[in-house]
Amino acid sequence: MYLLECYIEHPVRSIDRTFTYRSEEPVLPGVRVKVPFHHRTVLGFVEQVNVTEESIESLSKHFGYDVLPVEEVLDQEPLLNGELAGLAHHMHEETLSTVISCYQAMLPGKIKPAGKDSKVVEETWVKLSDEEVSLTPKELEAYCFVREEGEMRYHTLREHYPNQARNLIAKHALISFKKEREAAMRPVVTRTTGPVLTAEQNAAIQEIEQGADTVYLLHGQTGSGKTEVYLHLAENALKQGKQVLILVPEISLTPQMIERVSGRFGEELAIYHSGLNPQEKYEQYRMVKNGRAAVVVGTRSAVFLPFQSLGLIVMDEEQDGSYKQEVQPAYHCRDIAIYRANYHHCKCVLGSATPSLETYARALRNVYHLVTLKERVNRSLPNVTIVSMKEAMRHGQSPILSDELLERMNETLQNGKQVILLLNRRGFHTMLRCGSCGEPLKCRHCDITLSYHRDSRNLVCHSCGSSFPVPAVCPSCGARSGFSYSGYGTQRLEQEVKERFPDARVLRMDADTTSAHNAHERLLTSFGAHGADILLGTQMIAKGLDYPDVTLVGILNGDEGLNRTDYRSCEVTFDLLMQASGRSGRSASKGEVVLQAFDPSHYAVVTAAKQDYESFFQAEMRYRHAAQEPPYTYLISITLSDRKEPRMNETALKLYRALSSMEFRTIGVIPLPKRRDQYRSRILLKGKNLDQMRDTLRTVLENDADFTRQDIRIDVNPMTLE
Ligand code: ADP
Ligand code: ZN
Repeated sequence: MYLLECYIEHPVRSIDRTFTYRSEEPVLPGVRVKVPFHHRTVLGFVEQVNVTEESIESLSKHFGYDVLPVEEVLDQEPLLNGELAGLAHHMHEETLSTVISCYQAMLPGKIKPAGKDSKVVEETWVKLSDEEVSLTPKELEAYCFVREEGEMRYHTLREHYPNQARNLIAKHALISFKKEREAAMRPVVTRTTGPVLTAEQNAAIQEIEQGADTVYLLHGQTGSGKTEVYLHLAENALKQGKQVLILVPEISLTPQMIERVSGRFGEELAIYHSGLNPQEKYEQYRMVKNGRAAVVVGTRSAVFLPFQSLGLIVMDEEQDGSYKQEVQPAYHCRDIAIYRANYHHCKCVLGSATPSLETYARALRNVYHLVTLKERVNRSLPNVTIVSMKEAMRHGQSPILSDELLERMNETLQNGKQVILLLNRRGFHTMLRCGSCGEPLKCRHCDITLSYHRDSRNLVCHSCGSSFPVPAVCPSCGARSGFSYSGYGTQRLEQEVKERFPDARVLRMDADTTSAHNAHERLLTSFGAHGADILLGTQMIAKGLDYPDVTLVGILNGDEGLNRTDYRSCEVTFDLLMQASGRSGRSASKGEVVLQAFDPSHYAVVTAAKQDYESFFQAEMRYRHAAQEPPYTYLISITLSDRKEPRMNETALKLYRALSSMEFRTIGVIPLPKRRDQYRSRILLKGKNLDQMRDTLRTVLENDADFTRQDIRIDVNPMTLE
């Protein structure tokens, strides 16, 4: 008999251990099983298998309980290979999340332990049988058609021989069988060859290929030709028969990267991002697993794909917040990429014009190998004009589009060029206040101000997505005096632009216009083909876009992000301003940027306008040092949430006391805005020794049942504290 040690699917932290079940048949570690647990059937993940000669009775005596049999074995082969199983355990240690949640994060929806859509799509195929049967001439022709291929989709056979297909099976000349549906290869696009590389690009490629290090930071101004460097490194890895992973931060960036990659390498390309449905994801996953895909372009979760032999990992815009998963396990894609590069003995290239502070600091200390591209390929950076909105409004200009920006837009459109406008707020108005008591309208489930959306004529919560009609009376004071509308988002901007430029064709790109399947791709393709003159949108249009006809970028409310309390708010704002400016003037024509700000002298605004990363880095590092924020320290954020406020407070206080230590600072208990009817609070650990902080936290959580029952989220090295 076999004893199976299984992790079972359960959200509770206390169940982060294996349970023992028995099986008469041998089972492989790494497959999923259905097992009984507290009178229910749950999914289990087989971690280890031991053989035993003991009888069931003596086993029960030995364990002190009945060792139950597994109900069903779900997979023929292990889902995770040795590398990925090891990675799951590494993630579990690093992020302090449950093992089963790490497994779940690594698998596509179709085969995830908790997968709702766990049904794999199968197709009918046919192959030759060994039987000798007499066939009509036409049937023989169909039979030979199959013989040439060895086996084929029944559907294909029917298309060619509609009258013979079924007869051949009925006569047992062909056998039908089921096979998992596989992704159709992407159609071959027009092949492109790259430009002749500059001396700087060639030097960068040589330095990376000949270097002995694993991790490289390719630091180069926007438009300095980093992507060309990635493509050349990829080409060389492919020549050695290896697979290549190219990570991009957001799905809005995938279409462009895909176009460039598939133009260069053809059809052996898999694509993996959250915009795919579960079946599509599963098919791409299988393409990587069975080696049909040589290159993968994807977002965060693509870092878990089952590569056979990786030759290169590229992580473009490595500073981007979307590389960090916020839910458990709160892993950072960069850590996983580096782990896998070490495992496969390949190189991991982090690329950016504005690397995260911790990455650049590491590069300066030679933890990562720094490679720099100093020049833009077209040798000129865009010319940035800062407009003080306080001044502009004092002179009676529009609070949305200043005279300076309007004038530039006019010029650009007259020259037949394109404009990008960035406003990092969606909706129409961003706030409604009661005309009587002045209270802003907030979400009923979250402690968050609601935005007014004009297309739906509703108030929308950007935290939980709930929407409400505008109330007749103020929920705070009961007055019927109406509401004042203030603040503007992309919908309002769109209206303003259309009024000012009635002849221009305008596209809006934000979360509201891109919810449909492939909407990103459609909008960008249309803009790229000059199907519109002005593209306006939220941060999703700030990065990566490379359109030669864009010669003006307008940034509205550019310094709004500085008002956030987060320790990274300056870094994030600087990054957004630099990236957005970098969309302008990427080919022969010189680019212009108009940056509208309320605090035009802030160092993040000034250095971004000069496209001066070094100066920003030095200034920001001084602040971080003074406040002892990362990268000078490490943080672990512990968030408690509960529907019952007193219970949460009690547990939080208890946890705070248990964590108070001499070795690191324990900050708390910090109340957080309510979200989705959950009261929330945070405890923050801050110190220089991350391993020690992690160990203390692990021990404290494991030793008290109160903590294992409570919904506690742990984020090691949080990217944001909002
Ligand atoms: P980055 O990734 O640093 O933003 P890209 O690789 O996208 O830069 O290059 C910016 C633009 O310059 C692209 O349009 C690209 O095709 C072009 N480019 C890159 N390298 C060269 C080169 N060596 N010669 C000519 N054009 C180039
Ligand atoms: Zn809400």
